[in-house]
Amino acid sequence: MPVCSGCGTEVTNPTKMWSMVGRPSKTGERLKLTIGIFTCPQCERRFRTVIGKEKERVTLKGMIREIKGIEQGLVQTLGDLREKIKNLQSERAELLEQIEKLKKAGEKKANTLKKEITSLREEVEALKEILVDI
Ligand SMILES: [Zn+2]
Repeated sequence: MPVCSGCGTEVTNPTKMWSMVGRPSKTGERLKLTIGIFTCPQCERRFRTVIGKEKERVTLKGMIREIKGIEQGLVQTLGDLREKIKNLQSERAELLEQIEKLKKAGEKKANTLKKEITSLREEVEALKEILVDI
């Protein structure tokens, strides 16, 4: 029974009472504290004390709610990932297409250069022949 911190009188009934759930411990257990405010009938001192301490009951309902919350978070994360992967895949496809185009453009340019070189060689040969004739 709570005892007045001033005069030591035992006080039976709290004038106010409430409970609160503390932060979870390392093991994940949460303590539910019941706190009362008492007024000493002897010296009229008001004091606050913890009158009950119990492990918070893990209810099926509470567990289901928690699991549903986790599940929702996972679905959200999966959705985000799917979206990201989709974006990356389309970006990859675009890049591959660009590379393909660049390759084609490069091949075309190489072919043009080859033709130019061939005609330049022919020109050189023709000039050599002219120079020999002179
Ligand atoms: Zn007292």
